[in-house]
Amino acid sequence: MNPFHYVQTLETATSVNQVSGAPEATFLAGGTGLLDLMKLGVQKPNVLVDVRKLPLAQVEELPDGGVRLGAMARNSDVAHHPLVRERYPALSQALLAGASGQIRNMATVGGNVMQRTRCAYFRDTANACNKREPGSGCSALEGINRSHAVLGGSESCIATHPSDMCVPLAALGATVRIQGLKGERTVPFTDFHLLPGTTPQRETVLEHGELILSVDIPALPAARRSLYMKARDRASYAFALASVAAVLEVDAGRIKNARLALGGVGTRPWRASAAEQKLVGQEPSPTLYQAAAEAALEGAQPRAHNGFKVELARRLVVRALTTLGGRS
Ligand SMILES: Cc1cc2nc3c(=O)[nH]c(=O)nc-3n(C[C@H](O)[C@H](O)[C@H](O)COP(=O)(O)OP(=O)(O)OC[C@H]3O[C@@H](n4cnc5c(N)ncnc54)[C@H](O)[C@@H]3O)c2cc1C
Ligand code: SF4
Repeated sequence: MNPFHYVQTLETATSVNQVSGAPEATFLAGGTGLLDLMKLGVQKPNVLVDVRKLPLAQVEELPDGGVRLGAMARNSDVAHHPLVRERYPALSQALLAGASGQIRNMATVGGNVMQRTRCAYFRDTANACNKREPGSGCSALEGINRSHAVLGGSESCIATHPSDMCVPLAALGATVRIQGLKGERTVPFTDFHLLPGTTPQRETVLEHGELILSVDIPALPAARRSLYMKARDRASYAFALASVAAVLEVDAGRIKNARLALGGVGTRPWRASAAEQKLVGQEPSPTLYQAAAEAALEGAQPRAHNGFKVELARRLVVRALTTLGGRS
């Protein structure tokens, strides 16, 4: 392992200054993703600024009825928080479907949003990978790409965004609150993660040294009826092959509000806006749910080993909508 300096800070501004001032410095939160990548030699920061003790661990109600998830709040605390369980059950379910109990006790909201892809070629420095080493090529395009993305990929990179938590956050219309040297800014969650295009090494809109302060979820009464479904290789713990977060509000026999996002199939948490548009204003029915599922996967580009994900994701969408909205 490469040598590095470790500092712990108690103030947000100090953390931002310390990482901004050193090009190879980075934030350390729960360490469940970063330390693995350091051990593998994928990331080699020379300064670790430990932000775990910053006063950003609260889950709290916002004046408009929304909920603020502090960046340092642990995944397990968020999953079990009464505000989250009552108002956004899909978020609680997604968190509990992710990783293991021990990891969720360490992992934080900010670290989960910022987690890197699980592409095996990215994590093995013996392989070419444009994300790890720009311009070196993508081993997954012609390699074993069973776990890779069918939506949002490019000829440079087809890695999936691995987070479960980020899927409902995309569906719920969350925003990310960020602090940098010039002050605070907010970014809609669906704009926060970037498509790979020709620059897969640039994964989010964060500039070097910017710190996530919180993820804010708006008031959305319909989300009290929401759910998260995840298909994976084993039940104990595994990343999603495909997943869906869904919100469905039916009023007087018609769909009044629909929110859908997919995980495991996209290069970023994938809001399925075209599917939502198919649903709103219509009478719930199996045919409608199938049409929404087709729309959600429109434009999918499967590779040699991941074609099954297209049908798997469609079926998850239909099952989630059927569970929430009924069959007729
Ligand atoms: C065995 C295993 C199984 C897993 N399974 C799943 C799964 O099924 N589903 C799933 O979603 N996840 C899974 N994970 C991933 C896990 O959820 C992430 O590792 C975790 O969420 C990262 O959070 P952390 O606080 O430990 O971040 P860290 O590892 O400390 O940091 C991760 C990255 O985020 C940056 N960062 C952290 N906080 C901030 C901030 N506030 N602002 C800006 N940058 C920040 C760090 O600099 C670093 O680059 C698994 C992990 C392991 C090891
Ligand atoms: S899919 Fe992306 S992360 Fe994986 S090898 Fe290709 S460039 Fe690297």
